[in-house]
Amino acid sequence: MAPSQPASKRSGFTIDVGCPGCGADIELDDDFFLAVCTSCGSVLRIVRPDQPPAFFVTTRLSRRELRFKLDRALKEAGERLTSSSLQIKHLLYPYWRIKAVVLKLRNTREQRTAMVVSSEQPDVEYDVDTTSIWLSPHETTVAAAAPLAGVPASIGMRSAILPIAPLTSDRVEGDYDLLPVVVSSEEAEAAAARSIGVMGMMSHGDFGQNRTEWFHPEVDLVYFPYVVIETYDSNGVRRFVQDGVSGRLLKEPIANDVSSTETPSEIAMTFGSLGLSFHRCDNCGVDLPDNHSYFYSCANCGRVDIAEQAIAVNASLAAGSAPGSLLVPFWAFDLGRSQEQELQRLFTSTTPPRELLIPAFRVERFEQVYKLAHRMTVAGGRFDWVDADASSLAGYRLAPVTLTLPSALSLADVVIFRTRIGRDPNAEVCDRWFRPDDVSLRFIPFKLEHYFYVDAMLSAVTFEKQLIDSPV
Ligand SMILES: [Zn+2]
Ligand SMILES: [Zn+2]
Repeated sequence: MAPSQPASKRSGFTIDVGCPGCGADIELDDDFFLAVCTSCGSVLRIVRPDQPPAFFVTTRLSRRELRFKLDRALKEAGERLTSSSLQIKHLLYPYWRIKAVVLKLRNTREQRTAMVVSSEQPDVEYDVDTTSIWLSPHETTVAAAAPLAGVPASIGMRSAILPIAPLTSDRVEGDYDLLPVVVSSEEAEAAAARSIGVMGMMSHGDFGQNRTEWFHPEVDLVYFPYVVIETYDSNGVRRFVQDGVSGRLLKEPIANDVSSTETPSEIAMTFGSLGLSFHRCDNCGVDLPDNHSYFYSCANCGRVDIAEQAIAVNASLAAGSAPGSLLVPFWAFDLGRSQEQELQRLFTSTTPPRELLIPAFRVERFEQVYKLAHRMTVAGGRFDWVDADASSLAGYRLAPVTLTLPSALSLADVVIFRTRIGRDPNAEVCDRWFRPDDVSLRFIPFKLEHYFYVDAMLSAVTFEKQLIDSPV
């Protein structure tokens, strides 16, 4: 048997469009952010489409491996093995993949005993009530095609760990049957939200009410491979469905013909496809460094800008920063006078925070992100800012900006709600509690102390070193 492919490696996929410089096929990196053309050396940025893109799980077993695994399962079940008359059909079954941030509030009551020393009195028993709130990433998949006997309604976390590639037109011809999508992304999101809600309802608090809320769903489509094997012998035809990645037999012979699964409710779908653009300075056209940041300071002409940004955003850094520090980026939402006071009440800070500061780098440890956002927002009012340009940025290391503005806005909603529910466990979820007047990008200097970054000017804000990839 051939060795199975490693499950974590994702690189080595090409996409539909070629290099805008020379037309060569482009291999994608594992994070779908930047690519370098091996033919002409251009640094290219991967442009995500507005519509949900489609991907497919790429590992699949050879014909020989599939048959071997099926025969083994049949043998264990005491059934006839497959005959030499064997037909194998590869299916790609679509699932909506939904990534969201989940907030959980859990109320627990613990009984404790206080021992009373040197007295005839009995020990004292008392209850300790604890309310824990935390944010965590949540990923779920929901079947997007009509139900098919044996095929599971969700692939769980497998969409996160198996290698995936963008689905492109040339990949689906001939070899695969792509099952039609009959569930809309909105229906899938609603189903996922319901299951989260059910999860929350099932967990009763020891006091008060436990809560589970979810935010910021990002949706794309992932096709998972299944295999239908038909085998003929003197006793007739048998049909089996196997998991295309593990080769596991999913169900005993299925009755329906899989080719007749097309239903009239098929949704006409156009998927967004990944695009490529030069990762270059907008001003002088020179290639930008391959450092995976949306923010750049052009070494050639001095232009400072944010790539992939529809609106102009001002960038600045804390005045008086000590050179040599690591400049950590934050998206800053200016809330205007009316909301400043609400923000001050909410964050219980002595000086009114003028802006909500959201870390501008992608981290899945949302609870840590929330803490950093919270502390920085409280401390932010004490900084003065100077424009970020080639000369003011000279002498610093820049941490990359990896979170886009739309994602930062959604994250801001999460941070606000996480703060509100900390003060009032019954706080209602409302979209866009805050209405920013303006947005900018702020760089704040941090210095490394053992396993933590500490802000270099106030020594008031720290975060764990692993939270950010510092450029070397
Ligand atoms: Zn090229
Ligand atoms: Zn330039």
